[in-house]
Amino acid sequence: MDTPSPLPVVTSNTVLESESPTIPPEQKVQTEYTAALDINVKERKILGVEKIQCMNSTDATFSEIYMNVFLNAFSAYSPQNPVSQEASRKVYRYGEDYGYMTIGEVFANSEEAEYELNDTVLKIILPQELRPGENVEIKLDFEGYIPMINARTGSNGIDMWCGNLLPTLAVYDKNGWHTDPYYSLGDPFYTRSANFSVSITTPIEYVVVGTGTSTYSERLEKKTTTFAAKLVRDFAFAISSRYKSKSITTSTGVDIDLYTFSEPRNYDEILSVAEKSMDYFGEMVGAYPYPQLVLVEAGLPYYNGMEYPEVIFLDSDFLNEASDYTPVAHEIGHQWFYNIIGSNQISNAWMDEGMTMFMQEGIFKSDAEIDETARAEYEALKESIEEISPSWLDASLAVYSRWSDYYNVQYMRGKLMFYALKKKIGEEKFNAFIKDYYQKYSFKIASPQDLMETAENAAGLSLEGFFGEWMSSQALPPL
Ligand SMILES: [Zn+2]
Repeated sequence: MDTPSPLPVVTSNTVLESESPTIPPEQKVQTEYTAALDINVKERKILGVEKIQCMNSTDATFSEIYMNVFLNAFSAYSPQNPVSQEASRKVYRYGEDYGYMTIGEVFANSEEAEYELNDTVLKIILPQELRPGENVEIKLDFEGYIPMINARTGSNGIDMWCGNLLPTLAVYDKNGWHTDPYYSLGDPFYTRSANFSVSITTPIEYVVVGTGTSTYSERLEKKTTTFAAKLVRDFAFAISSRYKSKSITTSTGVDIDLYTFSEPRNYDEILSVAEKSMDYFGEMVGAYPYPQLVLVEAGLPYYNGMEYPEVIFLDSDFLNEASDYTPVAHEIGHQWFYNIIGSNQISNAWMDEGMTMFMQEGIFKSDAEIDETARAEYEALKESIEEISPSWLDASLAVYSRWSDYYNVQYMRGKLMFYALKKKIGEEKFNAFIKDYYQKYSFKIASPQDLMETAENAAGLSLEGFFGEWMSSQALPPL
């Protein structure tokens, strides 16, 4: 397919209820986002209106609520560098350009609300307290500028890609509100599952792809593309007037669409890896509960790819130069370990990174090859473990200063822990643990304790000592 055709609007409810774990009543969506964005693609300016319906499902009473406004991480004035020093040359390839998002008026249940916008954190002071079980509708308007940079949100001057752009509710849990800044290492995002309905208006010649099923309408010289997504943790989109696309449908009926503005040599191979990965995770973990997955080209030279619900951004250089497409499988794994099963990616990055790194091995390698790789990785990590700070898994993104330390611990030590767990409890029980983890925590947030208890239940034994060593000791436990 050379040009995208509008996708039929599917009532995601049907899909979610028939193919995914039953959603218990208390987990029914408590947040609904409705947004309309008007985008001047050439000037990279966005005008937006957003409504957020939220229900207070906690037993706390709120006089204020918090939202993330992550585009401000790319501002020249942000106190937090959104990319590490090592990455900054590639990110600012076109020179220095900085993004921002300003907030206009904010209303809570139609009453004007005061707010404070401090870098990426928006504090909204509610005119009326929000008590347990009550609903509030927040309405706000904003103006944003997408910088010409290579990052999760950015542009090459022609095409544009936007990750974490819509203001989203911060998570409130037993530790209070989570208003972490946009750390330069890792994925500093922690959100609950929600429903999104987003309309994006552009000049007529642009194609917009994003999270959810889409339809579009045209009027005069404008095109409005409307997306609907259920039970996802964020909304991402990308825009180009020169996309080429190709699609494939998996054995379970999920459409995988690859959109590129360049011409990668191995279109078919990329789609084939994607299909194989979707089938593998679907079988090993549980059904993919959405009708489609969009792979779309972006400029992300420091990452290869970045996962969003139903959307994966793949870096241009990676698409055109790589011969190994394992990163495609990795980002697809995050559809399960990040989007479907949520976790706090800031304090427990191993729960999505380590798990995905381990699970993706089975797509490409035999058991013997997995053993061989694990032994080699273990030896290499053991050799350098004393130079890594901190070397244990129980560490937040906030404490890392080097990408290699973060990677060696949260990805590699995390991966090796899951490898060691599978060896310890056996394949059958390990597979049962993964399936049970999906059944229990789909569309929810799993804590480290939840993951460990699920593993213990499947194993039928206490794993306190096992997890204790991997999580908290400086040295690497035996494999
Ligand atoms: Zn990852």
